[in-house]
Amino acid sequence: MIPFNKPPYTGNEQQYVIAAMQSNNMSGDGPFSKKCQTWFEQQLDAPKTLLTPSCTAALEMAAILIDIQPGDEVIMPSYTFVSTANAFALRGAKMVFVDIRPDTMNIDETKIEAAITDKTKAIVPVHYAGVGCEMDTIMAIAERHGLFVVEDAAQGMMSSYKGRALGSIGHLGAFSFHETKNYTSGGEGGLLIINDSRFKERAEIIREKGTNRSQFFRGMVDKYSWVDIGSSFLPSELQAAYLWGQLEKADEINNARLSAWQYYLNKLAPLAQAGKIQLATLPEHCQHNAHMFYLKAADLDERSQLLDHLKKNDILAVFHYVPLHSARAGLQLGYFNGEDNYTTTESERLIRLPLWFGISQAEQQQVIDAVNEFYA
Ligand SMILES: *Cc1c(COP(=O)(O)O)cnc(C)c1O
Repeated sequence: MIPFNKPPYTGNEQQYVIAAMQSNNMSGDGPFSKKCQTWFEQQLDAPKTLLTPSCTAALEMAAILIDIQPGDEVIMPSYTFVSTANAFALRGAKMVFVDIRPDTMNIDETKIEAAITDKTKAIVPVHYAGVGCEMDTIMAIAERHGLFVVEDAAQGMMSSYKGRALGSIGHLGAFSFHETKNYTSGGEGGLLIINDSRFKERAEIIREKGTNRSQFFRGMVDKYSWVDIGSSFLPSELQAAYLWGQLEKADEINNARLSAWQYYLNKLAPLAQAGKIQLATLPEHCQHNAHMFYLKAADLDERSQLLDHLKKNDILAVFHYVPLHSARAGLQLGYFNGEDNYTTTESERLIRLPLWFGISQAEQQQVIDAVNEFYA
């Protein structure tokens, strides 16, 4: 059986996790957390980064930081994971969904401005498959209208847009270290990226249950107490230790994924040229991270048959994201602005092929053969 995913593992995670267990300090912000955060601050050229228990938690922190109030509107694609919307829904915001571009499956930047009202507070671009959204256009729109940009870069670690790391362009950004992503902190984990220094101090407070405990540890105040709203947004040191094992080998993981991705592309290109399937488009100014390899079948019906065929060949391929605007909660909490030209139809065609750090060419070939057989 070829699984869809295997969590990344490089070899050093185990010894680091054990070291964290034996340190008598397993709660957050120990030495491994500091190492990870320093690594990210350099890698992303960001004034501050904070490890979180998940990308969901990082997005929730972002929604608090930009002070989302009931009735505020937040613009985002409908083709995304539920957390993109939930983080803002929890603060009472209304979701305004706009269509995606069929070439990258990212928010169509040309449809954003028409969705802005006097209630709009933020734009949340999602870098699907680790391919950057049109950030120059999005940042210019945000500036014109005085809006915040929170990048859902859950899938975007090690990717860049015009040479700038994804997650480091908006006011705030978020990565995920869930085990299905390119790097994991042991199953669950995330990172809040603070690019606008205004948010540095308050972010620490929100993450520490609304207390100024971080300032206390730095000797800036003589006792700590409740100063703001907040929650438990601090991950365990065990998660940071696991993640450190992966950050040390970040390039190795990235290069291996890119090679595997390229192998699929080379072998499936003939099917695409023959017009049987469609493959992803990578804008020239975007460096991706091979987060996912997807193909598009003709329609929903063909996709179901292809998935069945792969399953019969012991291959677990998947699709995802029922568009949020047509989901039960989405109908209550938001609306689709403009025409749904691509969100529904393109989401129904997409299949993600098995891809993980360490997948062998023999395993990939088995998948490729099964896809070719289906279309023969
Ligand atoms: C995975 C993912 C999330 C959620 O990440 P968690 O770390 O599981 O909370 C959010 N948004 C997108 C686009 C994702 O792919």
